[in-house]
Amino acid sequence: MELVSLVLKRLFLLLLALLSCPANTIARGGDLGAHPPPGFMGPRGGLLARRLFEDNYPEITDEMTRGYMSNSELEVAVKKFSKRCANISRIYSIGKSGQGYPLWVIEISDKPGQEEPEPSFKFIGNVHGDEPVGRELLMLLANWLCDNYMTDTLATLIVKHVHLHILPTMNPDGFALRRRGNANNVDLNRDFPDQFYPINDIKHSRQPETRAIMTWVKEGHFTASASLHGGALVANYPWDGSQDTRKQYTASPDDKTFRYMASLYSRSHYNMSLSQEFEGGITNGALWYPIYGGMQDWNYIHGGCFELTLEISDNKWPQANEVSFESFIDDALCFDPLGECS
Ligand SMILES: [Zn+2]
Repeated sequence: MELVSLVLKRLFLLLLALLSCPANTIARGGDLGAHPPPGFMGPRGGLLARRLFEDNYPEITDEMTRGYMSNSELEVAVKKFSKRCANISRIYSIGKSGQGYPLWVIEISDKPGQEEPEPSFKFIGNVHGDEPVGRELLMLLANWLCDNYMTDTLATLIVKHVHLHILPTMNPDGFALRRRGNANNVDLNRDFPDQFYPINDIKHSRQPETRAIMTWVKEGHFTASASLHGGALVANYPWDGSQDTRKQYTASPDDKTFRYMASLYSRSHYNMSLSQEFEGGITNGALWYPIYGGMQDWNYIHGGCFELTLEISDNKWPQANEVSFESFIDDALCFDPLGECS
């Protein structure tokens, strides 16, 4: 556990959010007013619940997307990375999106593809198509690790002692369509089987991206995980839903560990740790607002994986040139309120 904790801390430091522009957007949910969403409890409501009838978000303009990688540019970047950093990485696809984009994963390790007695972490970006900061940040993280392996102690520690799996985009179709849901306009963070609402267990209606994640998690044996979102600034931990659908603290059996992990991230993040909205910059999902069919609860229950949902940027679409890893890495590594960073 000591190594897991240490490495997690270092990884979280690397993933510190770089932005805190004031904004008033909703991240994890999008429809705060109705949980479970309308139709969820109806006779055939399970399907309806996962479909988005309307997107209540401002239109995403060309100006906003300028500088962000397109899906094909991202694929080129992933392949370029794998050639450039072949000694410490491999790439593999966990499936395809509804519109046929491969869901590329970059594994980074000194022994990629091999089974080792080391913790395995995964990071997932762009779960929601209109939240692109994570996918950019994860590519920057991969490249930083490649550039600094064997010269920087932190990069070397991560490469040698972790198997890091990075999925920059879980929802390339939503990104291309400039919307939250996937090609079928389903919110992927509502599409997983749910402990409180088994109606989500209808297998044939599961989205291809969700199915790919489920198979990956079952086969991967991940220790911990974070999915990256935008629209808020908080580290969110299970459970995401509550038994009676009310907004209330709903603890998982490992609540203490989850709180520790969420705090680890938040305390390393200057703006998040000072949150006025969330004490300590963390929140239990169901206390913030209950959702059903979310990915983090499923990971914990069915994959034995400690997953957090990290809301890393108030502004979903900061100017692309603000998403600069180099500009904040030094600050991130120096900012260490717990004094445990050295
Ligand atoms: Zn999101």
